[in-house]
Amino acid sequence: MRYISTRGTAPEIGFCDVLLAGLARDGGLYVPQTWPSPAKSADGKFEATYAQRAASIMAPFIGDEIDAKVFQQLCVDAYSTFRHPDVAPLIEIAPDEYLLELFHGPTLAFKDVALQLVGKLFDHVLTQRNERVMIVGATSGDTGGAAFDGVASCRNVDIVMLYPNNRVSDVQRRQMTTLTASNVHAVAIDGTFDDCQDLVKAMFNDQKFRDANQLSAVNSINWVRVMAQVVYYFTALEKLGDSAVFSVPTGNFGNVLAGWIAKQMGASIDGFVVASNTNDILTRFFESQQMTANEVVPTLSPSMDIQVSSNFERLLFEMNNRDGVATAKQLTEFRKNGELSVAPSIYTKWISGVFAGYRCNDEQTLATMKDVYQQTGMMIDPHTAVGLSAARQSVGVNYPKNQSIITLATAHPAKFPDAVRRATGQTPQLPEHLADLMSRPERIVSLPNNLKSVQAFVAGCR
Ligand SMILES: *Cc1c(COP(=O)(O)O)cnc(C)c1O
Repeated sequence: MRYISTRGTAPEIGFCDVLLAGLARDGGLYVPQTWPSPAKSADGKFEATYAQRAASIMAPFIGDEIDAKVFQQLCVDAYSTFRHPDVAPLIEIAPDEYLLELFHGPTLAFKDVALQLVGKLFDHVLTQRNERVMIVGATSGDTGGAAFDGVASCRNVDIVMLYPNNRVSDVQRRQMTTLTASNVHAVAIDGTFDDCQDLVKAMFNDQKFRDANQLSAVNSINWVRVMAQVVYYFTALEKLGDSAVFSVPTGNFGNVLAGWIAKQMGASIDGFVVASNTNDILTRFFESQQMTANEVVPTLSPSMDIQVSSNFERLLFEMNNRDGVATAKQLTEFRKNGELSVAPSIYTKWISGVFAGYRCNDEQTLATMKDVYQQTGMMIDPHTAVGLSAARQSVGVNYPKNQSIITLATAHPAKFPDAVRRATGQTPQLPEHLADLMSRPERIVSLPNNLKSVQAFVAGCR
């Protein structure tokens, strides 16, 4: 399997190079040359465990770059860190209404599903090549902790994550600052998440600095993260034994794109509900066929407080018949004018009947959390609540009443205790391995919003 860039000019590369590169040199995102069908075992049945199933679904994306047995062992190691034997259990909460719980990994958000595997893959590939990399990234909360946990035991990786000072939750900050591994570094930046992201982009665009420090990225534009998320769409449908609609609480569009890829690979998916909070650029796109950027507003579901969904570029590339030059042009215009529109015929072909966009404000989020608690006794996190609210809004409009809808539960309620308390009056408990998180000593580094200071810090971490 070879990979091409959505902006059409970077050279084609193989899986291991895609893993380490993150972003293509032409600024595009890597996608596989074709969408393969997942392998079944010889008797036509799917393998028993999540890890085995994961290895066979992802095998065609890796091709011959990693030995099949070795890759299966990496999957076993990655998913042994999950607290639930199913890894991603499917829970029925009402007739035809399901939650796919993706938060049983070490840092309590769905990002663990991909980043645990990404950590194992980095370790394997870098050891084989005898190379060392410096991962740099920006986090609005969940990515930092999940990335640290994924790579803390990698011998050949250093990682620096920038987060906006005072704008992540206490649990999220402590998941980054209380680790004792010497290769992980959280840095509080005196600025917003966008400032952090701009600093990271500037480091990548400084080719001399990028090469001298062997920079690498694990944010959600890294193909391997999307690939690992394709797996649970298949396993959920196998558990259900039927086709379904998926409702996906969305920020960068990575998770919902993974579902779309599963559908291209043959998964029996009836459609996607793209769930947004008040930052509803995608909902407005599905209403008007036009994408226009607004200011970001803070909500109860902060991991979705995003203006521009970077992974949407991969879908746009498909909508342009995989014309990278046309995609690059469209995105340059969008950057310049803050506007992107799609021709009606293209919209009908790719979007209509596949994606439906719904929004859910903080009030609806709290009401949904409260309703689930009253009906089932379960506490759900605010991101999951946005997904569930959107799913419920779509029934009777886009889908019939008896349609099975699976909402992706993307975070554990204890990650957002304030919102859960407001909605239910109850305080969700952190799982045992994090029970003493709030009393562990923190290692805090703060830096000004200044490229030179951040570059000096990064260079000093190697
Ligand atoms: C990152 C995150 C999201 C958004 O996922 P995308 O792949 O960026 O769309 C939703 N919920 C939670 C809890 C997250 O951490």
